[in-house]
Amino acid sequence: MDVVRYGRLLYEKGLTSGTGGNISARVGDVMMITPSGTCKGMLDPTELVTVDIATGRAVGGRPSMETPFHLTVYRERPDVRGVVHTHPRFCTALACAGMTVDPALTPEGLMVLGRKVPLVPYATPGTEALAEALRREVGGANAFLLASHGAISVGKDLKDAFHRMETLEAHAELQYRLALLGKGRPLSEEEAERVLRERA
Ligand SMILES: [Zn+2]
Repeated sequence: MDVVRYGRLLYEKGLTSGTGGNISARVGDVMMITPSGTCKGMLDPTELVTVDIATGRAVGGRPSMETPFHLTVYRERPDVRGVVHTHPRFCTALACAGMTVDPALTPEGLMVLGRKVPLVPYATPGTEALAEALRREVGGANAFLLASHGAISVGKDLKDAFHRMETLEAHAELQYRLALLGKGRPLSEEEAERVLRERA
């Protein structure tokens, strides 16, 4: 099961720690989501919770506390089949500083993350208010920082969302290191457009 596989990878790559974060995959009209309060590196397939995307009804245990925003993503974005939410070190540092990742630092950033990574305003974890704050941004991007909280990536499948989270954290680290160097700047607007055109 993809949720178990990518949960372990996120943990092994240091993109999540403790019992933090949550992962889901769309399967037809439902999503399979990680249960509340479990380490993503030690998931058992039998622990996953099935949640009806239209009604929000859960079967098979207590789903992640962030179920509301996972549902919002699938309801707003029919093209999305995988959602990853974690608190990676450098993404979270930027998010707590009220900053976000600039994908235009490298061509790779633009190609994987798209033109922008919105900073979703802070709302209490697990609330409909956080789901609503994400809803306002989810149509225009595939990677997001949550102010004072962490990061979200979405993709056409869970593998796609996982790669995007890994790239997002790599870019957050790059940006952090460039700030220490006091150097580094994004590609020009013209070059950024060219990179995105070439990818299309
Ligand atoms: Zn979180």
